[in-house]
Amino acid sequence: MKKEAQELWQPMTHPGTVQDDPPIAITSAKGVFITDANNQTVLDAVGGLWNVNLGYSCQSIKDAIAQQLQELPYYSSFRGVTTDKTLKLSQNLTNWFGEEQMGRAFFTSGGSDSVETALRLARQYHKIRGDKDRYKFIGLKKGYHGTHFGGASINGNVKFRRNYEPYLPGCFHVSCPWTYRNPFNEEKSDRLAQLCAQQLEDEVISQSPDTVAAVIMEPVLGAGGVIVPDSSFMPLVREICDNHGILLIADEVITAFGRTGAWTGSRLWNVQPDLMCLAKALTNGYFPLGATMISEKLVDTFEANTDGAGEINHGYTYSGHPVGAAAALAVLEELKTNDLPTNSSLRGKELAQGLAKLKDAHRWIGDARGIGLMHALELVSDRSAKTALDKNSMALVGQEIYNNGVMVRISGNNMILSPPLIITDQHVKNILDAIDAGLSALTKQHD
Ligand code: PMP
Repeated sequence: MKKEAQELWQPMTHPGTVQDDPPIAITSAKGVFITDANNQTVLDAVGGLWNVNLGYSCQSIKDAIAQQLQELPYYSSFRGVTTDKTLKLSQNLTNWFGEEQMGRAFFTSGGSDSVETALRLARQYHKIRGDKDRYKFIGLKKGYHGTHFGGASINGNVKFRRNYEPYLPGCFHVSCPWTYRNPFNEEKSDRLAQLCAQQLEDEVISQSPDTVAAVIMEPVLGAGGVIVPDSSFMPLVREICDNHGILLIADEVITAFGRTGAWTGSRLWNVQPDLMCLAKALTNGYFPLGATMISEKLVDTFEANTDGAGEINHGYTYSGHPVGAAAALAVLEELKTNDLPTNSSLRGKELAQGLAKLKDAHRWIGDARGIGLMHALELVSDRSAKTALDKNSMALVGQEIYNNGVMVRISGNNMILSPPLIITDQHVKNILDAIDAGLSALTKQHD
């Protein structure tokens, strides 16, 4: 008999597995819960894909989208025209990110587009200034910057690179401050931050600083397994960039809008980046929209340019889509009355405490880490050797957790938790209980 989903190829999935093992189809959602085609309702501890920060029932965003569809479902933002909502959103976003001194917004259709835009603008900035050799990019190993060739070239995770090589020339990677696994065998996070920063500066110098356009980093690494740097790390990266005339791109696709317990990851670490990549929670996941924010430092170089080098010959059909812009404007209004960072921080602490207890109780947890409402459990079959737990066991744990009423994200040997930022303490308990049950099921299978 023909199975469902045979015609579907999914992102980040082997298309062969889908033929025998069709995905769960989600059919509806309410609050922080999702319901599947079998009528099972579970708590969404993935938050869509780190993006549904306000949950699934935010009526003001839905209304704004519906109204915009009636008024103006689309218009382009290419030269000479734009839409009223696009304009308003650019103003509101520069205000929203005033603390980061962001002066301009360039709209995109999502995170990968925002990264691509930031990389291009970084190169262009140096070209306008006559620094024409600065074309190289440096990123962190385990960093994730989307799937376009630019972003994927600077991604530092072999998993996302291996099947698509070769990549853009001029992209280099240095160690990230991951205390659980690093080439320095260093567990102390402040010391590790120094070592990684030293490696970065060494790379810059060995590349010749006048060839490096930008360093890109996530303030907290997300898809690479929720790696939380020491608070000294991003400021050290900023300092190295400043010392060598290099731009700093903060990829805030996950970390902007409260997920870490601060409004942005850059703010969390007290850093002002030169470019910021946004997407995901910008529309609460209800419409595909992204933005690259450009700091005041870069604005004049582009705007005062007279020889054409400042012209932005880059953009997307859906740059500044009015429906997306309307959704984002409604999100920003919601955020004025919804103190997401505080809830993220409080619930995040409860979650972290609970996960630490689970680590004591289950030998499968090699490392439990996170900040705000982004956490990961790194599962291992042997704690002392840190052997990654195999794929089948990971799948079994994920399925058992689902059977116990919670959706988590299994990625390699990481279980990633990124629930909506509106969860309550009871929801945190539900998540912890379900994980407990999932890991107990694995123990039962082995004993
Ligand atoms: N950058 C980061 C830090 C991300 O986490 C992601 C998506 N998870 C992207 C870029 C790419 O975003 P998108 O999938 O919307 O293209």
